[in-house]
Amino acid sequence: MKKIAIIGGGPASLMLAANLDSAKYQVTLFEKKKAIGRKFLVAGEGGLNLSFKAEVKNLIHKYHPSSFIAPIINTFSNTDLINWFDSIKVPTFVGTSNRIFPSADLKPIEVLKKIEARLIENNSNIKLQKEWTGWNEDGLITIDGKTTDPFDIIIFALGGASWKVTGSDGRWKTLFEKRGIEVKSFRAANCAFKVDWNTNFINTHQGKPLKNISVSYEAETAKGELCITKFGLEGNAIYALSQKIQDTFLTGKTPVIQLDLKPTMTVDQIKTKLKNSKLKKITDILKQDVNLDRASIGLIKQFSDKETFLNLDLLAEFIKSIPITLVGTDDLDKAISSLGGIALTEIDESFQLHKIPDTYVIGEMLDWFAPTGGYLLQACFSMGWVLAQNLNNTK
Ligand SMILES: Cc1cc2nc3c(=O)[nH]c(=O)nc-3n(C[C@H](O)[C@H](O)[C@H](O)COP(=O)(O)OP(=O)(O)OC[C@H]3O[C@@H](n4cnc5c(N)ncnc54)[C@H](O)[C@@H]3O)c2cc1C
Repeated sequence: MKKIAIIGGGPASLMLAANLDSAKYQVTLFEKKKAIGRKFLVAGEGGLNLSFKAEVKNLIHKYHPSSFIAPIINTFSNTDLINWFDSIKVPTFVGTSNRIFPSADLKPIEVLKKIEARLIENNSNIKLQKEWTGWNEDGLITIDGKTTDPFDIIIFALGGASWKVTGSDGRWKTLFEKRGIEVKSFRAANCAFKVDWNTNFINTHQGKPLKNISVSYEAETAKGELCITKFGLEGNAIYALSQKIQDTFLTGKTPVIQLDLKPTMTVDQIKTKLKNSKLKKITDILKQDVNLDRASIGLIKQFSDKETFLNLDLLAEFIKSIPITLVGTDDLDKAISSLGGIALTEIDESFQLHKIPDTYVIGEMLDWFAPTGGYLLQACFSMGWVLAQNLNNTK
């Protein structure tokens, strides 16, 4: 029987270990923390969004590069994931905005326990508080600095580089670089961006949500919501654009997003509302006829000049496209996910490293991007499942 070492105990590796053929492989999973799945549990604190209900072809377009994710999610889709969770007695439901969650009566820790039970049923040997520390001079892996017995196959699923407290600290980067493997620098993704607010505005509107808005940046538009914070803006509408925004920061330029406060209305429809109003004060018209809340009106006032605010044609256009300059990014450690990681050119289509045979890499430690909405976990689970099938089918 071949021996497999899986390093890291997150969603990608758990799905892998749960599905490897136990008649063919003897599996040992090394996790450096006291427990597996710590980031999975953190994800559960805001509602454990496992995946997204959409046709697979639409799902795939949310990922960058989508050409990398397409064959993976085509092989193990959102429907396959729901069926798999059903098989371990974790029923799911489709919540608001088509997000998929475990049944409301199951806490994230209970979901994790059911996944762990499947691993144990599948004879995986889980070793906790065991940290992979590199390779020795013969290319054998070391755990806590000591060379292990040889394994036939090694699979890394060490996660990204945010929320270090969960164990996903990106410390593995230098170890791979020493082996000549290209690892792209980590940057925050699905994170807050800094805005230089006017003091009066932020003192009044800090913590207020902007609902049913859209944000555009460089020909991409994301609908959803934002929250105004002392730091700047956060929320799914800006998270979805975080890769493009971060790429602009890398070039040394300052990104300017366009906020649309009324994505369901055209400029002409807003103009008609503004011009047909019986009210005199523009603030009252915006509130009562255009149905904008105080925070939205405050935003318009902060970013428009007097001429725009008093000219109803210009004002209608402004409501649909408020330019907001982003002056910085939140800390990597606070981000929901990280950009960067092992360059996709370093692996073949079965996740195997070109430079180290019989060694595979899956999950967030690879250099791909997905927005929030269940896309991250879906891709990590899909990679685990696909790699398990590939290995089960090899002679
Ligand atoms: C606040 C927050 C909320 C989120 N919410 C969602 C959500 O609702 N939906 C969604 O799809 N995604 C969400 N995510 C993202 C999602 O949790 C991650 O993308 C996913 O957990 C990545 O899985 P992974 O298996 O690649 O790695 P991880 O889950 O990061 O696991 C990697 C594991 O490897 C271990 N490890 C690292 N180095 C070593 C080493 N040297 N030796 C041994 N073990 C090691 C770590 O301790 C860790 O347990 C959220 C993330 C955060 C931070």
